[in-house]
Amino acid sequence: MTRMNAMPVREQETHILLVEDDPADARLIEIYLEESGFGDWSIDRAQSIQEALDQLSEQDYAIVLLDLTLPDGTGPENIRRIKAEFPDQNVVVLTGFDERVFGLEAVQQGAQDFLVKGDYDENSLAKTLRFSIERQNFIRRLEETQKIARIGSWEFHPDTGRLLLSDQVLALTKPDDSEVKDGLPSVELNHLLRRIHRIALSGREVNLDTRIKISGNGERYFHVQCQLTRASNNEEVVQGILQDVTDRYQTEEMRKARDLARKSTEIREQFIASISHEMRTPMNAIMGLSNVILTSDGVKGEQKQMVQAIRDASDILLGIVNDILDFSSIQAGKIQFREDPFSLRSVCRNLEQILATKVSDKGLFWKMHIDDQVPDQLIGDKLRMSQILFNLLGNAIKFTESGQVALYIELIERDRQRVRLTFRIEDTGIGIPEEAQMSIFEDFNRVKYQNKTYEGTGLGLAITRQLVELQQGRIWLESQVGIGTTFFVDLGFTVESAYKNGHIIPDATLTSEGAFRGTILVVEDHKMNQLVARKTLERQWPDIHILMAEHGQIALDLLERHHVDLVLMDLQMPVMDGYQATSLIRRHPLPRIRQVPVLAMTANAYVSQDTQLHEKGFTDFVLKPFEPEQLFARILQYAPIKSISI
Ligand code: ADP
Repeated sequence: MTRMNAMPVREQETHILLVEDDPADARLIEIYLEESGFGDWSIDRAQSIQEALDQLSEQDYAIVLLDLTLPDGTGPENIRRIKAEFPDQNVVVLTGFDERVFGLEAVQQGAQDFLVKGDYDENSLAKTLRFSIERQNFIRRLEETQKIARIGSWEFHPDTGRLLLSDQVLALTKPDDSEVKDGLPSVELNHLLRRIHRIALSGREVNLDTRIKISGNGERYFHVQCQLTRASNNEEVVQGILQDVTDRYQTEEMRKARDLARKSTEIREQFIASISHEMRTPMNAIMGLSNVILTSDGVKGEQKQMVQAIRDASDILLGIVNDILDFSSIQAGKIQFREDPFSLRSVCRNLEQILATKVSDKGLFWKMHIDDQVPDQLIGDKLRMSQILFNLLGNAIKFTESGQVALYIELIERDRQRVRLTFRIEDTGIGIPEEAQMSIFEDFNRVKYQNKTYEGTGLGLAITRQLVELQQGRIWLESQVGIGTTFFVDLGFTVESAYKNGHIIPDATLTSEGAFRGTILVVEDHKMNQLVARKTLERQWPDIHILMAEHGQIALDLLERHHVDLVLMDLQMPVMDGYQATSLIRRHPLPRIRQVPVLAMTANAYVSQDTQLHEKGFTDFVLKPFEPEQLFARILQYAPIKSISI
């Protein structure tokens, strides 16, 4: 090899490798290039194919000018050998006058163009070289674009059976580079191409999504387009492209899976909510009527015990319904926490009242102590706080056969706006074995006992933990088998400082102790629930006067004809529902009707999230099935004029 030009190598210089064994032809090229004003260039020369291959492996060349008659090779074979090792190399072929046909064939083998010796001048030489470089750059850019877009293209010549695959087709359908080099399609691709070509050759356009197995590397998804065209020589050519759409496909699949999951969660939640609503209504009757029977004078002995058992069983059933409902809304991410002012001590006293019978029935001691430093007026979700304490205290009572159950509340942190409190729930019960303590807060987890079974779903603690943690709190426990268990809950609350400015009315201390002699209008379409309400109220307050309406329209008529102290309003009713009735009451021209307290009676456990209640003007609500004590307390709270403390 000899360097024929001594010009210094510069950035923009075009590097040419001239593969020519005839010195005269080589010199002619150099002269033409000098005369053509081709720009900055340099030529290295090789005199055989082997020398050219060595040279190409050492250096990059913008063009190889390749003579087709060399000592170690003749004809299109020369280009095949170069292309086999350097498939992307830009090659322009030089042929003798009587070897033109070789030139054409060389182009088919991958040469950019050919020049016939003795038939070109400086201008056509420069033009051919420039054009070949441009074309090569263009192809390179196209390939880069295809690579970025993960598109590969191919051509199939049915006459000869020749298949030309772009590198990208191979790179996309083969597992690694080493396999791409052979230039052959994988078995799976071959199979696909044959199928597609058959369609295209029948004159139909192919436009489909498919997947191809990548041997040992899973499978990928492709969008394939293919059609039959005609080359300039009228030869039939099938042209196709394939694009790797795996990422898009997977994202789409994930979106579909997510939508499906969301939809099924929604359906499940709706289902659970409506089932629970449907269950609450008959349970209201069972619980309410057994309460009525239990407080009747005539019921004694075994009969009383049986009714008590019905009452206890339905209590448990209600607990389960509530748990499942809560669990499902926590799972659906639907729980919202309210930020309302409340009195901590009055909420705890309420809880104490509800649990009192359970504690005394089991012959346990009860202790509650709230540290003096703990502020009473807080802002937070009092219902959720009660639920947490109710779950933990309920368990403490359930799993304790003798001794004491206690609730302690202490202050652990306080600044101007916030407090952190620790609730300690202590029992002297059976305890929780150490190995079970870790998993006790997980869904459906229960401890198996050899000689006793306790009813429950194993959801209570899972729900409790979620309720605590969703409020940025912490829950943990200490326990010793046979000695007892202590659950600790840390929760933060805002201190109700606005209270001092008189903005917020303190939570009334609820009590069910009081006489009531007024008139209550019960608006309820369900016969069984009418009976429960009537019996429950009459048993508590024999002097009470009860009006009964089956729907809102009748209720409005009765309100106009009678003086009513308080309305208990069911929500879902025929003719006129509770929402409409209450909003008409609030707009009534008569102040005594406009201002009557209206309590919603609802079996909808999500009632606290029902913004309509507030909008339509309900005073408050009672949840069905109701604890009689709570119903009495609510009535006394809102219709206090007719009540006399005893
Ligand atoms: P369950 O509905 O079964 O009571 P929980 O999630 O409330 O479900 O409780 C899970 C299990 O944790 C209970 O079955 C019981 O084995 C154990 N456990 C919970 N609280 C106590 C406690 N105070 N004393 C002893 N064991 C308890």
